[in-house]
Amino acid sequence: MEKYCTVGQGNMAHAYCMLAHNIIYGNEPADQLAKEATTSSEAEIIYNKIPKSARIIELKEEGVEEWQSEWDASTKGAITKSFFPTIGGRLTQRLQMNIKLSTIITGHGTLRSYYHRFKIIDDPTCFCKKGPQTSDHLLWECEIMRKQREVLKNRIKMAGENWPINNSDLANIHASFRFL
Ligand SMILES: [Zn+2]
Repeated sequence: MEKYCTVGQGNMAHAYCMLAHNIIYGNEPADQLAKEATTSSEAEIIYNKIPKSARIIELKEEGVEEWQSEWDASTKGAITKSFFPTIGGRLTQRLQMNIKLSTIITGHGTLRSYYHRFKIIDDPTCFCKKGPQTSDHLLWECEIMRKQREVLKNRIKMAGENWPINNSDLANIHASFRFL
């Protein structure tokens, strides 16, 4: 700006000079200032700032990644992992929890294998006598659950999904249709 109007002119004279210059030469000084601003380090700092909302999304993504690493590294929760292998996937599922569903997806609760693990009963064998009463047994093997399994199979096929199905896909479908 000093190139066109000197600082020593005093405030009013300087302002008039700038105004006159703008009228005569257009907005060149402003363009020059804008150009200088975009190349200054201060401008870099301003333009490097990202919106708060974008930073919140970044932090959430970092949190999910960290949670996933811990989930992968953990030796616990094998049954739950079979239903929910990814944290990101689970966070998008809207499950209405109840005691039966939580028993199936955790392997904890009213299962004979669970009672046996804590020495509440002597034998984990299911009432169908085909194996230990676990989540997988009840879902995929138990003779007593054969009829319910057929209903599940038909509903899943009607929904256009494949059968047999793994635990993870079953949880996904359940989150959409609430079969269990
Ligand atoms: Zn059984």
